[in-house]
Amino acid sequence: MRRMPQILIVEDEPAIAELIAVNLRHNGFQPVWAADGEAARREIATAVPDAIVLDWMLPGTSGVALARQWRADAQTRTVPILMLTARGDEPDKIAGLDAGADDYITKPFSTQELLARLRAALRRRAPEPPQERIVIGRLTLDAATHRVFWQDTADAEAQLLKVGPTEFRLLGHLMRNPERVHSRARLLDQVWGDQVFIEERTVDVHIKRLRESLGAAGAMVETVRGAGYRLSANAAATSARAAAANSSPA
Ligand code: CA
Repeated sequence: MRRMPQILIVEDEPAIAELIAVNLRHNGFQPVWAADGEAARREIATAVPDAIVLDWMLPGTSGVALARQWRADAQTRTVPILMLTARGDEPDKIAGLDAGADDYITKPFSTQELLARLRAALRRRAPEPPQERIVIGRLTLDAATHRVFWQDTADAEAQLLKVGPTEFRLLGHLMRNPERVHSRARLLDQVWGDQVFIEERTVDVHIKRLRESLGAAGAMVETVRGAGYRLSANAAATSARAAAANSSPA
């Protein structure tokens, strides 16, 4: 099982810290609470967290000053920081981002939005996927050259398919996780990530485009009724058999 990402919550108001911690725990994160900068420093000395949710207004050292310190420190330089604040002013937002925060969320916030932004921040930090070549059946995705190839038959020459950038990312995700059902919400989270507020039917539009660009291989992208989508090598084989059966003289 994957290790739960550890999130350091630096917040002096226990009720808010608790609300965030409960939601993080319910969503597969491991929260650690620090009530001020000093406590946060102790926690970081014990274990560098995967991300920090940082309140602006803290007793002692302010959130902005802490963000600036952590950005300057080699140990914490790449840890995503999500600033939390009651201020909504543009100059404050810029000050927070200038100090090195990755994102900014204004109180009162919805915990769903906090989670979505935290996931996006963690994903942005995640290392680029290796420049791999994924082959499923007769479909090949070459991440290094951003190309997709399809072989009509086992001995046919591979043909280059024209696939748009979003469809390419979508296909990459489906091919990295074949035979698995992906809900629209999950695809939005995994493929779109940063633009978490787009509608789920956008996924349907891009799936349709992806199928069109894949041509004969489009049948590999299956709709799983009421659940989502799946990329299956078997689906193509089935549909190829069906097509062969249909085209054979009766
Ligand atoms: Ca506070």
